[in-house]
Amino acid sequence: MSDLRDLYQQVILDHYRAPRNFGALEPVSSCAEGYNPLCGDKVKVYLRADGDRIECVSFEGVGCAISTASASLMTEAVQGLERSRAEELLGAFLALMTGEDDGGGAGVPLGKLEVLSGVKDYPVRIKCATLAWHALRAALGSGDAGAVSTE
Ligand code: ZN
Repeated sequence: MSDLRDLYQQVILDHYRAPRNFGALEPVSSCAEGYNPLCGDKVKVYLRADGDRIECVSFEGVGCAISTASASLMTEAVQGLERSRAEELLGAFLALMTGEDDGGGAGVPLGKLEVLSGVKDYPVRIKCATLAWHALRAALGSGDAGAVSTE
């Protein structure tokens, strides 16, 4: 199990040092900002949709390793998905982190996102890991720039 933890940690560090899909998106369909005052993490998620499909997702921000890695992994995971599929994944990821299942995420495979599963053992870090996902939810929902806070 410790080998698996090491591997997970390597993936998180890799995404922290070299975040994927980092930077503003142009043109952009919607975007939303998230702020986690507990840790000082800030993230802005950009989304470009093509009809019902998420064509492109990117993010900008400053934060700790967990928040940055989670945002980076999120952009990779939802790129190219149908909106409804992205919402399922979002529900599944939040369920993994909080241990609560709001019904939307049961049985959805998380793939690479499993590397963040260790975070749930550190309650103060959960908000870091879920920040970009809450911003994604806001960007998916409103279609207008909004701000979310984990508080
Ligand atoms: Zn953080």
